[in-house]
Amino acid sequence: MKKQTRAIVIGGSLAGLWTARVLADHFEQVTILERDQLPTEVVSRAGVPQDKHVHVLLERGAQIMSQLFPGITDELLAAGANRVDLTGNSRVNARGQWLPQFQSGFITYACSRLLLESILRRRVAALPNVQLCGGAQVQGLVANNGVVEGVQVRWKDGREAGVETAAFIVDASGRTSKLPDWLPQIGYDTPTETVIDVRLGYAGRRYKIPTPAPDWDIMLVAAYPPDNGRGGLIYSEENGIWMVMIAGLLGDYPPTDDDSFLAFARDVAPEFHAAIQHAEPVSNIIGYRRTENRFRRYDKLSRWPDGLVALGDAVCGFNPVYGQGMTVAAMAAVALGEMMAERNGRLTGLAQSFQKKYPKIVEPAWLLATSADLEWLGNEEATSLPERVAGWYMPKLLDAIPGDQLVHQTFIQVQNLVVPPMSLFRPNIAWRVLRHSLRGPKFLSRLTAPGQPDGPGETGG
Ligand SMILES: Cc1cc2nc3c(=O)[nH]c(=O)nc-3n(C[C@H](O)[C@H](O)[C@H](O)COP(=O)(O)OP(=O)(O)OC[C@H]3O[C@@H](n4cnc5c(N)ncnc54)[C@H](O)[C@@H]3O)c2cc1C
Repeated sequence: MKKQTRAIVIGGSLAGLWTARVLADHFEQVTILERDQLPTEVVSRAGVPQDKHVHVLLERGAQIMSQLFPGITDELLAAGANRVDLTGNSRVNARGQWLPQFQSGFITYACSRLLLESILRRRVAALPNVQLCGGAQVQGLVANNGVVEGVQVRWKDGREAGVETAAFIVDASGRTSKLPDWLPQIGYDTPTETVIDVRLGYAGRRYKIPTPAPDWDIMLVAAYPPDNGRGGLIYSEENGIWMVMIAGLLGDYPPTDDDSFLAFARDVAPEFHAAIQHAEPVSNIIGYRRTENRFRRYDKLSRWPDGLVALGDAVCGFNPVYGQGMTVAAMAAVALGEMMAERNGRLTGLAQSFQKKYPKIVEPAWLLATSADLEWLGNEEATSLPERVAGWYMPKLLDAIPGDQLVHQTFIQVQNLVVPPMSLFRPNIAWRVLRHSLRGPKFLSRLTAPGQPDGPGETGG
C-alpha cells in the first residue's frame, strides 16, 4: 500500500491516540499535537477535565483496543485493572428492580481513565513513526486551493509560533474543538449542531474498597422516569479503589460536600448507600456538568476541504452516563483506517466521504443515548424520525428488561455496540416488548380477561 508522508492529529486524548495508531499504518510519519504537556506518570491533565471521573470501556471498545494494541489487556491487568463481566460481576438496578446476574462474556477492564490513557499513550509513543508533541496548542488551519496543508501552532515552551505542514490533518480535540471557528477562516461554513441536553450532573469520589469486599465489582443504579432522576455507579478501579459516582437529571445536580453526598446516595438506592456508608474516602468530591449530547453536522456541509477530517467528541459527544465516547472514537478511527485502505492511500475526496459517513458510525450510540434522554425531555424534542421511533420504543423495551432475559441479553449486546440497534426491533424481541407493554395495568383491565392466553406460543421471559 502506498504510504503518504505526514499526518497530524490535533489532540492526544483517547480519540487522538486511537487515530494515531490507525494512521501509523498509512503514513510515514504521524505527529500528535497536544496542548497539555504529556505526563509519563498516571496523572490528570487540565485538557481532559473528565479524566478524574469514572470511565467504562464497552465491549466493542475493548475488542478494538485489543486488535489495535495486541497484548494490551494483559498490561492493564498487570497494572491493576479488573476483568469484569458486565452482567456477571455487576449488580444492576434498572427501572427500580435488581436485574438477574448472568455471565454475558462482555468484559470491561475496570480501571481509572488515567491508567487506561497512560497505557495507551505509552503504546502509541512506542510506535516508531509516531511522535507525541506536548505543549503544542493548535490555533488555526492553513489551506490552499481547497486543501488543508497545515496547522498554526503556538508552542508553550517559548518556541516561536509557526506552521506545521502535513498531507492529512485530523481534529481530535474534543468537545472544545475550535474547528467550527477555523472553517470560516479558510472559506468554509460553520456546521449546524444537534443538541439534546438532559442537564445531567455528576459528582465523583474515590473510596478504599472495604474488607471483606462484596461479591460484585460494579454496582449500577440507573435513574428512571418520571420521578427517579437520581442514579449512581460504584466501579472497582486499580489499587483497591472504588470510584463512586452519583448523578442527577434535569438540573438536580449532585452535591460536592460530604454529608449531602451521602444523603444523595441514599436516594439512589438503600443498597447503594449501604455499600459506601462506612467506606473510607480517599479523595475530594469532584463535580462535572458538561454532559449534553452534541452532534456537529459536518456531514451536512456541501463544501469540505481535502486533507482534513474531524472525529471523536470534536464531532459527536454523548451524555457520558451511557459510557460510549471512547468506544465510538475507536470505531471512528477504525472506519477512517478502512477508508484509507480501500483507497490505497489516495486522499483526494476522502475527507468529505469520511465526514458524510460519520452519522452511520455514531448512529447506534446516538439513538441509544438520545432515546433514553428523550424519555425525560419528551419525545417532541426528537430531531429526526429515527430518534422519534427510538424515543417511543426504547422506554417500553427498558420496562421489559427486568422480567425478560432474552430482551435483556439483546439489549446488552446493542448497548455494548457489538450488534446494531435494529436487533432490538427483530420480531421475536419486538413481540416480547409490546406484549410486556400491553400487559400494563390500564390495558389489562380493559382488554384481558383473567386467565386469557397472552400470545402465540409465548411462555414468558
Ligand atoms: C464525566 C464524563 C464521563 C465519561 N465517561 C465515559 C465512559 O464511561 N466511557 C466512555 O467511553 N466515555 C466516557 N466519556 C467520554 C470520553 O471522555 C470521551 O469520549 C473520550 O475522552 C474521547 O474524547 P476525545 O479524545 O474526542 O476528546 P477529549 O478526551 O476531550 O480530548 C481532547 C484532547 O484535545 C486536546 N486539545 C483540545 N484543543 C486543542 C488544541 N487547540 N490544540 C492541541 N490540543 C488540543 C485536549 O487537551 C485533549 O487532550 C465521559 C465523558 C465525561 C465528560
